Amino acid sequence: MPHGTGKIIRNIKFYNCGFCTNNLSHMFKGHSSQKVDFQARVMLIEHPVHGLILIDTGYSHRVRQNGLVSWLYNRLNPITFNPEDAIRSQLVRDKIEPDSVHTIILTHLHPDHIGGVYDFPHTKLVMSVESEGLIKKSGLRDMIFKNQIGPDVQERITAYTLENKTPLTGFSGEDLYGDGSVWLIGLPGHAHGQLGVYLPEVQLFYIGDAVWDLNYLIKDMRYFPRKVQNDYNTYMDTIGKLQTLKGVQIISTHGDEVYIHAE
Ligand SMILES: [Zn+2]
Repeated sequence: MPHGTGKIIRNIKFYNCGFCTNNLSHMFKGHSSQKVDFQARVMLIEHPVHGLILIDTGYSHRVRQNGLVSWLYNRLNPITFNPEDAIRSQLVRDKIEPDSVHTIILTHLHPDHIGGVYDFPHTKLVMSVESEGLIKKSGLRDMIFKNQIGPDVQERITAYTLENKTPLTGFSGEDLYGDGSVWLIGLPGHAHGQLGVYLPEVQLFYIGDAVWDLNYLIKDMRYFPRKVQNDYNTYMDTIGKLQTLKGVQIISTHGDEVYIHAE
């Protein structure tokens, strides 16, 4: 894993907060039967002015507490999660005061990304306007796991349109603090309004679920996993754009490796 040595972003840490297990033969045509654990990875960065920033929050025990929806989700996507995997617990173990986290950036609102939000009841939430719209429009009803994000989140949300030019050719987004250190990058396709986070100083791009694991890019996805994507064609377009980024360290929520295209 890369560690930040840049002038603005001081530290970068990754935490695995539970995982799901899937058989690759169920996901991709022509793949042999092979079970893989897909970690729910969270990134923590430190900004000298804005302090600690979490990108996504992993799973929580609440993923199992939503009745029939939880049962079905676990059947299709078996989850392993222990209490000590919660991002809040892991920060405490790391001697980081969880309430000192200034901002949580949510790439999108799937359960393996929002699970820990409930445990940070006062933290500012950053997301795309599309994600905010899902929360506002429905009063959380449209979210798969409305019990995870907690009550009264709307007042804490700052939402961005992700329409500006960015340092990444072909991608639009927003300079979060206006100092060029943290860019929110639009990554449509997997989920409505998904975003990623790019740190130019270390050329690190956290892409959420833009693709689960870059090792499986070339495989032909089966019908059901395609249908899980918000828009499969846009999903593939975004992957195509990711493949054009040279020298950028790309890390996904669920992939095991940092992926760098050759210069
Ligand atoms: Zn997702």
